[in-house]
Amino acid sequence: MTKFEALGLNSALLNAITDLGFETPSEVQEKSIPILLEDETDLVALAQTGTGKTAAFGFPLIQKIDSNSRTTQGLILSPTRELCLQITNEMQLYSKYVQGLNTVAIYGGASITEQARQIKRGAQIVVATPGRMKDMIGRGIIDISKIDYCILDEADEMLNMGFYEDIKDILSNTPKEKSTWLFSATMPKEVATIAKKFMHHPKEITVGTKNSGVDTVQHEYYLVGGRDRYSALKRLSDANPGIFSVVFCRTKRDTQKVAEKLIEDGYNAGALHGDLSQNQRDLVMNAFRKKQIQMLVATDVAARGIDVDDITHVINYQLPDEIETYTHRSGRTGRAGKSGISMVIITRSELRKIHAIEKKIKQNFIAKKIPSGIEICEIQLYHLANKIRTTEINEEVNHYLPAIHDVLEGMDRDELIQKIVSVEFTRFYNYYNKTKDLNSVEPDRREKNKGASDDFSSNGSVRYFINVGERDGYDWMSLKDFLKDTLQLDKNDLFRVDVKESFSFFNSEAALKDQILETFTDFKVNGRFVNVEVSDSPEGGRRRRDKGAKGKRDGRDRNKSKGKKREGSFSKGGSRRSGTKQVTSSGNRRSKKRDGFY
Ligand code: ADP
Ligand code: MG
Repeated sequence: MTKFEALGLNSALLNAITDLGFETPSEVQEKSIPILLEDETDLVALAQTGTGKTAAFGFPLIQKIDSNSRTTQGLILSPTRELCLQITNEMQLYSKYVQGLNTVAIYGGASITEQARQIKRGAQIVVATPGRMKDMIGRGIIDISKIDYCILDEADEMLNMGFYEDIKDILSNTPKEKSTWLFSATMPKEVATIAKKFMHHPKEITVGTKNSGVDTVQHEYYLVGGRDRYSALKRLSDANPGIFSVVFCRTKRDTQKVAEKLIEDGYNAGALHGDLSQNQRDLVMNAFRKKQIQMLVATDVAARGIDVDDITHVINYQLPDEIETYTHRSGRTGRAGKSGISMVIITRSELRKIHAIEKKIKQNFIAKKIPSGIEICEIQLYHLANKIRTTEINEEVNHYLPAIHDVLEGMDRDELIQKIVSVEFTRFYNYYNKTKDLNSVEPDRREKNKGASDDFSSNGSVRYFINVGERDGYDWMSLKDFLKDTLQLDKNDLFRVDVKESFSFFNSEAALKDQILETFTDFKVNGRFVNVEVSDSPEGGRRRRDKGAKGKRDGRDRNKSKGKKREGSFSKGGSRRSGTKQVTSSGNRRSKKRDGFY
């Protein structure tokens, strides 16, 4: 007997499960399926994204539906069109051996007539987004007065997106005697309220820890002058070469403008807002999902449909008007057990909003500095070196190698390396060299964020460079844990942990410096040297002492030149995926254009 069989599933489902290649039930499936099969009960099931909740309710639902009757018996509400389609697809796969069972998807942005036709043909299971569902009930196209099962999937997201009223309306059209199954990744107050109001003594199961969904996100703010917002955005992106982000703007117009400027400046960006057609939005979302777009610039409303799990950064280009909205934005990252960073670009007058948000999210922001131009150059340089190291050799080049060897005749390895990295580095260097410091001075630096804004002053803390990063599987949380455990320190002893692709930075109080450097002398993990050095660039960049030639850099860091140079167009070079380079002469553009249209 397989484990799925032991849960009480029938052969039609077991066959489909075999076809799907599922071998063992996930925890949420193991816990929910027997309960749902045996009892007619309400259920609240909490489990993180990606734990197989769809099958946890899908299998029992399919088994309990009478496929000989054409009456709609099961309604699944889900927050977005994408999820709705995904669930429908899964349900169809699960029920492929159940004769006559029909699952139909109901969602906005597509022909209502066609959906009505499908319903009319008979759909025992309907998967719907709340908005379209309400619409169809209103038009009398769909009858849910005889359903036996109502499933609220991703309930936290639905409530996040403001569907409470719609859900209430929809439920009022369902019979009293039915079972309601609520599935959610988190259990915020709002979900608890729904459970209390619309459910009857629900059984409750929890998989893993009940996460509130916020503790995996680090919140950071960057204080800049109002006109420097756009430049700051670019620097934040350049300082995080692997970024995969949603950039939130307040209006459709700003969204479009920021996206256009980013594209013009050579970034892999796209806009998502309500003035686009459904088709355009689908194109953008598909490109984003495939990571062809690294920076998705979106309005709050349009971003509701985003169900992408590995977003590394949420960037608040402007803060939203409502604090509530901020939590929805930042919740786009740090999903599925991963960590994420929510960055806010603000001006001084908005500082008090940060305090209000901190109260709401019960988490402190870290005041961070926009990286200086030279730091970005450094980060990009290591990124490039890393890319060279990991690039797969294309055998097609072999053919040209003899000729290329002729061209490069007489250069030694060092010179060759210098030249290769200079090709790209010089573009960044020319662009960022002498650009000004974008950071606005915060009048009341808060002590509680120790090490956050002022920690590089002489009396403060020490910044370190460590030669492990994302490539070694670290994010800021896991690196912090690793350091904390290795150094046997308290988690508050380490701060400003910044993980880049192949290296990272972190801070400690000055008093811990010797201990830290000592611990990491000849320190190996899995046979590889893990090296920690003091970084003498205050904001994270590293200057190696043994490369004296760059020693004058501090001067360049600040804007030494009298004429204030603003950051204009800079081409990062096309899609990083395809590796094509689109070299734009940034110098020319810079003279013509000014950025920061705020
Ligand atoms: P959730 O709703 O909890 O975010 P999903 O139901 O979307 O998760 O499932 C995530 C993925 O895991 C899907 O691709 C699904 O097909 C797969 N999956 C679900 N259950 C199992 C299982 N028991 N074994 C293997 N894969 C599974
Ligand atoms: Mg799900």
